Amino acid sequence: MKNIVLFGPPGAGKGTQSAFLVKKFGFVHLSTGDIFRSNIKQSTELGSLAKSYMDQGKLVPDSVTIDLLKSEWSKYPEAIGFLFDGFPRTHAQAEALDHILAEAGQSIAAMIGLEVPEAELQTRLLERGKTSGRPDDANPAVIAQRIAVYHNETAPVQRYYEAQGKYQAISGVGSIESIAAALENVLQSI
Ligand code: AMP
Repeated sequence: MKNIVLFGPPGAGKGTQSAFLVKKFGFVHLSTGDIFRSNIKQSTELGSLAKSYMDQGKLVPDSVTIDLLKSEWSKYPEAIGFLFDGFPRTHAQAEALDHILAEAGQSIAAMIGLEVPEAELQTRLLERGKTSGRPDDANPAVIAQRIAVYHNETAPVQRYYEAQGKYQAISGVGSIESIAAALENVLQSI
C-alpha cells in the first residue's frame, strides 16, 4: 500500500497529473475539490455549504472536510494505494489524515510537491477558467484569494511532511509528459 499526497498551489497541475498516476499505478484518487464539486452538481446540503466557501476562494472548514475525506477513504478497503489531491490543506487536516491511516495500520509514503512560479499560476488559472466551468477559476479576485490562502494555510503543511522526511519536490513547469516522467521517477524511488 503506497499512499501519496500530491501537493502544490492552485493551478500547479495536480488534477492533470493525478489522472496520469491513477492510470499508471492504479491509485484510488481522492480529490476533496472534485468531491465538493460533485456535491454542488447534485445540489446536496454539503454542496451548498462547500460552495459558499469555494466561491470566495476560502477553505471549507476542517471539520467538514476531514469527515468527508474519512468517509470517502473508508469506501475503498481494497485499494492498493491512495492518491490524495488537494488534501491535506491545513495542519489539522494533515494530523487527521495521519490519524485515520494509523488506525488502519497505514501511513503516508511521500508528499510530492509540484513547484510552479507564482506569476504562472494566475495565467494558468485564468486560462483554465475559460473552459473549466469553475466559477473560482473565472474571477481574478477569487484566484488571488486562493493563492493567498495557499500561502497562509496550506504551504506550511509542506513542513509537516518535511519534518518526517517525506517531502519531495519536482518542477511543475514543462510539458505534461515531462512532468509525468519526473513524478514516475520519484514514485519508483519510494
Ligand atoms: P481544488 O479543486 O483542490 O482546487 O479545490 C477547490 C476548492 O474546494 C478550494 O478552493 C476550497 O474552497 C475547497 N477545498 C478543496 N479541498 C479542500 C480542503 N482539503 N480543505 C478545505 N477546502 C477545500
